[in-house]
Amino acid sequence: MGQKSVTFKLPTDFSDDDLRLKIKRELNLAEFNFHLNNKSLDARNKSNIHWLVNAVVDSEELKESISPETEPLTIPVKKRTKKVIVVGNGPAGFFCAYALQLAGFDTTMIERGSEVGKRELAISKFESGSGFDPMNNYAFGEGGAGTFSDGKLTSRSKHISAERRFILENYIKAGAPSEIAFLAHPHLGTDNLKLIVKNLRALFLEAGGTMYFETMLEEVDLKTNKMITITTSKGSLDCDALFIAPGHSAFETYRMLMRHGVPFRTKNFALGSRMEHQQELINVAQWGKKSLPGVKAAEYRLTSEADGKHAVYSFCMCPGGLVVPATAYANNNIVNGMSHYQRDGKFANAACVAGISPDVLAGRLVTPFEALAEVEKLESLFYNITIDYEAPACSIADFISGKQRNYSLTSSYPLGLSVAPLWDLLPAQVSQSIRSGLIDFKKKMHGFENGILLGLESKTSSSIQVIREKTGETSGFENLYIVGEGSGFAGGIISSAADGLKIALSYIQKT
Ligand SMILES: Cc1cc2nc3c(=O)[nH]c(=O)nc-3n(C[C@H](O)[C@H](O)[C@H](O)COP(=O)(O)OP(=O)(O)OC[C@H]3O[C@@H](n4cnc5c(N)ncnc54)[C@H](O)[C@@H]3O)c2cc1C
Repeated sequence: MGQKSVTFKLPTDFSDDDLRLKIKRELNLAEFNFHLNNKSLDARNKSNIHWLVNAVVDSEELKESISPETEPLTIPVKKRTKKVIVVGNGPAGFFCAYALQLAGFDTTMIERGSEVGKRELAISKFESGSGFDPMNNYAFGEGGAGTFSDGKLTSRSKHISAERRFILENYIKAGAPSEIAFLAHPHLGTDNLKLIVKNLRALFLEAGGTMYFETMLEEVDLKTNKMITITTSKGSLDCDALFIAPGHSAFETYRMLMRHGVPFRTKNFALGSRMEHQQELINVAQWGKKSLPGVKAAEYRLTSEADGKHAVYSFCMCPGGLVVPATAYANNNIVNGMSHYQRDGKFANAACVAGISPDVLAGRLVTPFEALAEVEKLESLFYNITIDYEAPACSIADFISGKQRNYSLTSSYPLGLSVAPLWDLLPAQVSQSIRSGLIDFKKKMHGFENGILLGLESKTSSSIQVIREKTGETSGFENLYIVGEGSGFAGGIISSAADGLKIALSYIQKT
């Protein structure tokens, strides 16, 4: 059996039969099978928008063969006696725990929030104005911050192709659409994610792992090279190695670790607001028309260095999505974006953020402990300016002019908007950068100024980072690992999951 890789430009609404015919003609084959290897939309020329499709064709009539692009990840399996605990059931914690369990460790995963069904009820209750649940919200609960999300599976991290393949294969095993294996911009949508996290849990339990929900890590007794005892909200547990994947919202967990001498440093991060437009406006700007057969909704990615100093960029764009109240703590207010698989909502949203250092935010040199307090101060300012988790908001045009007008704004945000001068609420440096960026974006995208800005985006990246060795362990603690977004070394679903996997593999290899 031979194999050949072929690439075609195809109309946006092409069918499998169209592709089969194209392959048949191009390669002059009678009998063959094929699978897609890559599919990306080329919308650079609005009058000729097409899919660029790469397919791998298998046929007895082909002489040549091609080598697989990515070797599969191998997990060394043997009988092991060590007990390990993984804290946090987000993408990093899950894939870390799953790899450790597959490798033969006695693995227990604990998660402060509930299983996804109960978590969803808590979020619905919050969004209907009936109270915030500090254990179950957009940050905490089964699947972590990645569950009620857009589920974009893109990542800018390099050198994670084997990990990425392992993660995607397991997502597919857990019910994800198989197209995530070949789409250039794969996404799951929150409707798929709710099922996937449940099925991933089943895979972990089938492999022999132990999972405790509603169990929060509260204290650690850390002794270098020795057994670690942790205190949880449900009692204490011992382990030979502790992996903590808390995400970057777990401020009280960070503080507890800092009190125990776990070393962190501050780092530059990003702050801003979420922009929202009518999806049709984005479709017209990107495609020159309101809809395109075979494509769900137009995406965008905007970057600017308009003020010459600080990058301003769009992040986590959710076509056809919703802006959601994503705070992890009561009396703080931040926003984020999510979508359903069909991406058929009326609005498009994306973070619009600018880089800043914790020292500039505070106006003085700050420790990691103090950096957290500075971020929290801003999150509570955005809460206090409105009532009951309404999002402060303004039009993009007003942000640019710095003049507040009274008007009603429409949005997908479920808890209402309150008109506010966002440019005064954000730190001055961030406001200036964003203003320059918005002026630039207006030139790049037709109709851009007709959108709005809402809320605070403070979680696109972390203001602190754990200090860890090349092999992944926390400096000074041989059996303590901080992984995923909470380590400050990863961000996003794929890079956090890959970090969890990499650190697990590093421990597996040395043990
Ligand atoms: C609304 C929203 C939309 C997003 N959309 C996307 C997207 O489309 N694509 C993308 O790549 N990224 C997206 N992200 C970001 C992405 O979800 C995160 O980068 C990713 O989930 C980080 O993975 P993690 O496992 O490191 O941490 P998390 O997913 O944050 O998981 C940490 C887990 O640890 C638990 N935990 C914390 N402290 C404790 C403790 N003390 N004891 C026990 N458990 C604890 C938490 O409850 C949580 O479940 C989105 C985030 C949000 C909030």
